[in-house]
Amino acid sequence: MNSFKKKIAVLGGGLAGIGATASLKEEGFDVDCFEKTSQYGGTWCYREESEEGVPSIMPTTIINHSKEMGAVSNFPPPKEFNNFMRHHELYKYITEYVTQKDVLKHFHFNTEVKTVQRAPDYEETGRWTVTVRNRITEEETTNIYDGVLVCVGHINRPKLPTYPGQDQFKGKILHSHSLKGVAPYHNKTVVVVGMGCSGLDAAVETSSVAKQVYLSTRSGAHVINRIGPKGLPYDYTLIRPYIYQLLDIFPANFVGWLLETCYLDFQYDHKLYAIKPDHHIFSKDPILNDHIGSKLMSGAVIMNHTSNALQKTV
Ligand SMILES: Cc1cc2nc3c(=O)[nH]c(=O)nc-3n(C[C@H](O)[C@H](O)[C@H](O)COP(=O)(O)OP(=O)(O)OC[C@H]3O[C@@H](n4cnc5c(N)ncnc54)[C@H](O)[C@@H]3O)c2cc1C
Repeated sequence: MNSFKKKIAVLGGGLAGIGATASLKEEGFDVDCFEKTSQYGGTWCYREESEEGVPSIMPTTIINHSKEMGAVSNFPPPKEFNNFMRHHELYKYITEYVTQKDVLKHFHFNTEVKTVQRAPDYEETGRWTVTVRNRITEEETTNIYDGVLVCVGHINRPKLPTYPGQDQFKGKILHSHSLKGVAPYHNKTVVVVGMGCSGLDAAVETSSVAKQVYLSTRSGAHVINRIGPKGLPYDYTLIRPYIYQLLDIFPANFVGWLLETCYLDFQYDHKLYAIKPDHHIFSKDPILNDHIGSKLMSGAVIMNHTSNALQKTV
């Protein structure tokens, strides 16, 4: 098969789109990468203003895995980079990658993919018709591609639940997608709903200035500190072949129980801190957070397992 002339559209210029473009380029494909914003990097391109449909992080976001475990396999981060990179350092790493791989010449910025459809000759060729719109000039362009890689991300639209009494509530309600600093929460009472990574980041960050933060969760969570045994990154110990070898031999529930008891509860007993979930560690991703234990210990954050309604405040 002569793949060299095949034309591939990569939709989205985040980490997945960058990696896909670099790999396709290496394999000799003709690549167009469409990115609707003016910058590459997706989630890891920090934006002061959040925008619906564009991934968003907080000023304090730190990656969840150590640089060795999270590295691009053929492009290790420089040794002077920190073990757990803050978002701007990770962006620097991404920038070094796109520069070395000369990826950006395939990028079409400010270009939003509007539709992807089977080409009229799809049955014979398997090709796709891709229509994009330039967000500055509003011009629409349609082209045929031999293949399409969808890399548009999956956590870029805030999902806000509604609660009974919400329309009566006089306080401010926002999604962590728009949380860009803690100053507005100075001396306020804050309820953080949800105990995922962003929820815990929001609780920990706002509790440094708020009067009181309540953390509301239906299920609890398994929480892991970035700092593992002997002060080394947790994933040096946890993400190892022995875990998979254990899973080959024993039932997942048993290996999960072992990890929870001998590792997680060794940091702090999840039951004692009222965060222990019903599910075992392999049935839902654990949450990375280094400070929630001390915040709960000091009462800066209080667990609340019952809040399911909002009421008017005066
Ligand atoms: C707060 C936060 C913390 C996170 N922390 C971690 C972590 O520690 N470790 C980890 O592994 N993952 C983490 N993630 C997950 C993160 O999604 C991944 O790290 C990674 O960035 C996903 O890359 P992606 O390219 O798939 O998607 P994204 O980063 O979402 O990039 C998608 C790109 O596609 C573009 N796009 C979307 N729609 C269109 C369209 N129609 N046309 C053209 N372009 C389009 C967007 O503008 C964006 O640039 C975190 C996510 C968030 C929000």
